[in-house]
Amino acid sequence: MIEEIIKHNREFVASKGYEKFMTSKYPDKRIAIVTCMDTRLVELLPAALGLRNGDVKIIKNAGGTITNPFDSTMRSLLVAVYELGVNEIMVIGHTECGVQGMDSGEMLELMRHRGISDEHISLMRHCGIDLDSWLHGFDDTGEAVRETVDLISRHPLMPADVRTAGYIMDSTTGYLSSI
Ligand SMILES: [Zn+2]
Repeated sequence: MIEEIIKHNREFVASKGYEKFMTSKYPDKRIAIVTCMDTRLVELLPAALGLRNGDVKIIKNAGGTITNPFDSTMRSLLVAVYELGVNEIMVIGHTECGVQGMDSGEMLELMRHRGISDEHISLMRHCGIDLDSWLHGFDDTGEAVRETVDLISRHPLMPADVRTAGYIMDSTTGYLSSI
């Protein structure tokens, strides 16, 4: 599959398919969006919000939430604010998110099935890594979005003039509800 993508890439560049996407690294709308890596949102989210190349910074992870104030998503937001001129942040969860109800015990079991040894798993536990809460999903998407909005707006390194708001997108229609 990756070979097919590389083949497409060569044709895209050769036919100057990039010309209509040319822009700068600075987001024209001065907005950063934190959202989920869900495949249904790949084209739906920008289309439903009327976003074009160059408009916004989009930071994606599993669930579109931040659980650790010093993780890479939070770091990306600080870069977006201080280096790239972002002054508004949207946290967008979505309906039927795979991270909702995700169970750490099940994932650890899948890891064992894929050949990860119990020694590796217990070694991490001995190193103080709380695998169970790290791999655990959220129970309520709205609540998880609300907690992420709070975490961002109360972050000690986030300037007070940056506005953060939470939403849930319908994964089929793209309808955006405020949280
Ligand atoms: Zn999701």
